[in-house]
Amino acid sequence: MKSGDYSICVYCGSRDGADPAFSAAAEELGQLIAEHGCRLVYGAGDVGLMGRVARAATTAGGATFGVIPQHLVAREVAKHDLNTLVVTETMHERKKIMVMNSDAIAVLPGGAGTLDEFFEMLTWRQLGLHAKPIVLVNIGGFWDPLVTLIDHIETTRFADGTLTQSVQVVDNVTAAMPALLNNWSA
Ligand code: AMP
Repeated sequence: MKSGDYSICVYCGSRDGADPAFSAAAEELGQLIAEHGCRLVYGAGDVGLMGRVARAATTAGGATFGVIPQHLVAREVAKHDLNTLVVTETMHERKKIMVMNSDAIAVLPGGAGTLDEFFEMLTWRQLGLHAKPIVLVNIGGFWDPLVTLIDHIETTRFADGTLTQSVQVVDNVTAAMPALLNNWSA
């Protein structure tokens, strides 16, 4: 098993959300990332789906890399048993360090913070700043409104066809793994 030489960044809610399927998916993704010998990169919190992904990855013996700004250490309950915990001054530094240390991006259900992180990765990819896979894990159709919005942006010609091509939409965590791993050249 390769250990931590391919890093998967997970963006997801700092809450659990309404559907228990979201929690189950977060735990499954953390476990699968570890079982594939990959490193989890995430926002370092021990709350909501974020905490579930990290606890599952750790329990399964995976490597973990968390990044959190100082002002959220208490609010998001920074997880101190990660292999690496980076505390930044700002949100922007957090996002930059997370993406610099990742090979692929998974987006589980989440709120405005998750959307912010997703759109930054999407727009950076649109601008050619990276070519990392971006995988929307559409548990129970949670991301359907977002997929519709992105399609709408293309249909109304505020983006070309590369926008939808930049995002892979999968229905479950099992399907997410091959999409996330296709950037692994080693
Ligand atoms: P949420 O999806 O709103 O529960 O937030 C998920 C994660 O995104 C949390 O760790 C938030 O701290 C983080 N977050 C919220 N807003 C931003 C932002 N503007 N930039 C980076 N991360 C953010």
